[in-house]
Amino acid sequence: MENYKALVVRENSEGKFVKQIETVSREFLPENDILIKVAYAGLNYKDALSAKGNKGVTRKYPHTPGVDASGIIEESNTDDLPVGMKVIVTSYDLGMNTKGGFAEYISVPAEWVVPLPESMSLKDAMVMGTAAYTAALALHKMELCGQHPDMGEIVVTGASGGVGSMAIAILRKAGYRIIASSGKQEHYTWLRQLGAKKCINRDEVSDESGKPLLSPAWAGAIDTVGGNTLATLLKRCGRNGSVAACGLVSSSELHTTVFPFILNGVNLLGVDSAETPRNIRMKIWERLAGDLRPENLESMELIVPLEKIPSYMDEILEGETVGRVVADLS
Ligand code: NDP
Repeated sequence: MENYKALVVRENSEGKFVKQIETVSREFLPENDILIKVAYAGLNYKDALSAKGNKGVTRKYPHTPGVDASGIIEESNTDDLPVGMKVIVTSYDLGMNTKGGFAEYISVPAEWVVPLPESMSLKDAMVMGTAAYTAALALHKMELCGQHPDMGEIVVTGASGGVGSMAIAILRKAGYRIIASSGKQEHYTWLRQLGAKKCINRDEVSDESGKPLLSPAWAGAIDTVGGNTLATLLKRCGRNGSVAACGLVSSSELHTTVFPFILNGVNLLGVDSAETPRNIRMKIWERLAGDLRPENLESMELIVPLEKIPSYMDEILEGETVGRVVADLS
C-alpha cells in the first residue's frame, strides 16, 4: 500500500479545524506492529470532539479520528495475529493521538488488537463498537457488585444515543427491566422495541429539590449524561444498587453528598473503555458475541460511506444522532 483514503482533520492558519477526505501516503500512518485494512469504522462522540480540535482528545494535527475499527490484517510482525485474520480495534489511543479508523488503513500495536469472535461479522462489530463495549463493561462491573434483575429496574440515560441504545439492548438480553430516559419523545417506540419497559423524559432524572436523598425509584443505572443527572441517579437509587458513570454529554461535574453511599450502600462505578486490560476486553467481546449479543442490531445501525462522516460528526455533537453511525470502507 502506498497511498490510501482517509478523513483528515487539519488546523488552518486561523486556528480553525477543517475536516475532509484526502488521499494520503503511507508515511501518514505511524510505524507499528500490525497494518489493518479497515472494513468498518463506528462513529463515537469522542471522534467528533477530536475533529473539532479538542486538545483533551487529540493534541497534534493533521489527524484522522476514529476510535473504533474492524478489518483484516494486511501486515503483521507476530504469529498470534496472522495476515488475513479478522480483527477489532477499539479505544486505547486509536483515533486520539494515533491515526484512527476513518481511513482505509490503520497501523497499531499488537496489544490493541482483538480477534473478531467467530459468530460476529466485521460490520456487527462496528455497529456495536465502543458503544456496546462500554455498555457491556458497565453491566459487567454492576454484576461484580451484585446487581441482579430481581433487584428492580435499571435506568439508562441518553437512551437514544450510541451507548444508551446499546445499554438497553444488552440489559434486556441479560434479563433486566429497563427505564429509558430520553429527550426525544419521537423515539420512544423504537426504545421500547429495543427493550425498554418504560420511557421517561430526561427532565425526570434531573432533580432540582436540593435534597440529598429521595425515595428510591430504580435499582441501578447506566449513565451517559453526568452532572445533575448522575447526582439524581445516585439519590434515587435503591439499596445496594450500582450506578455506572460512562459519560458527560450534559456535564463533567458531579455535585452529590455521601448519603447515597453511606445510608443506601449505593455503588458509583467508573467505566473506562479505553484502557481495560486485554483479558477483560476479550471477555467482554466474547460476551457481546454470546449471552449479551443485542437482538435488534439492524434497527440501531446507519451504514454510510466515509464521505458522510464529517456531517454526522457535527450532528453527534448536537445530540441529534440516533443509534450507531458506521462508515463502510469494505
Ligand atoms: P451519543 O451522542 O450517541 O448519545 C448521547 C445521548 O445523550 C444523545 O443521543 C441524547 O439522548 C443525550 N443527550 C445529548 N445531549 C444531552 C444533554 N445536554 N443533556 C442530557 N442528555 C443529552 O453519544 P455516545 O452514546 O457515543 O456517548 C455518550 C457519552 O458517553 C459521551 O459523553 C461519551 O464521551 C461517553 N463515552 C464514554 C465511554 C467510556 O469509556 N466511559 C465510551 C464511549 C462513550 P436522548 O435524546 O435520548 O436523551
